[in-house]
Amino acid sequence: MYSVWNDFLNLIFPARPFCPLCGEHSPDKNVCGRCRSTLDSYLLEHRCRKCGRFPGKGAVLAGSPFEHLCFECRKHKWPFALARAVGPYEGILKDSIHRYKYARRRVLALTLAPLMAEAYRAEPLYTEIGLILPVPLSGEKLRDRGFNQAALLAKELSVLLQIPADVRTLVKKFETPPQAGLPRAARESNLKDAFDMIKAEKVNGKNILLIDDVFTTGSTLSAVASVIRLAGAKHVFGLTAATGRYF
Ligand SMILES: [Zn+2]
Ligand SMILES: [Zn+2]
Repeated sequence: MYSVWNDFLNLIFPARPFCPLCGEHSPDKNVCGRCRSTLDSYLLEHRCRKCGRFPGKGAVLAGSPFEHLCFECRKHKWPFALARAVGPYEGILKDSIHRYKYARRRVLALTLAPLMAEAYRAEPLYTEIGLILPVPLSGEKLRDRGFNQAALLAKELSVLLQIPADVRTLVKKFETPPQAGLPRAARESNLKDAFDMIKAEKVNGKNILLIDDVFTTGSTLSAVASVIRLAGAKHVFGLTAATGRYF
């Protein structure tokens, strides 16, 4: 009934095809030319070879621009092998992730996941991934939001990359208080206790692709990667829709 009514409405007011990222007119309903060139420009930007974050204006790049490490990665050892993202958390990516996550526009997973698959394919250092896992949400958060934004992306990526995904193995046992202002070590140990694995044997000896929507300070990805490695995974690689900038 709903679809008949929808068809009827579409007949009278034909839906204007629009770009899923910016909302501007796009004849084929795909990412429009302007958004495409913004995304392509991210591929040409330098990024930290370890955490994948982009330098902000005024950041000092040590070493070759294509092989450099950010200040944090020079002094800090991460439990993940590397992390990559489609682009920086700003403009169209930030807006789209907000609509996806907070306005619950789940359909945006169908746009964001293929862009993440492109970022995955552009990075030759991802090796022999055996399993895709999403960063889990606590039961409380899941009830509030109604879906886990990372799990939806992981399921789409599993289809696109032809790699199995498991959206139930990792769990977040309780909601962690806001971590802003805490030193890195405190943030990470608070978070580490919150995550757990139900069937640890699933990751044993495998390389894992860990999925989240945004890489901000890296604390979440880092805490989850530690739990996965403790369970016996070989390497953990991160992939997010967007990432931060560093200065
Ligand atoms: Zn657009
Ligand atoms: Zn870095």
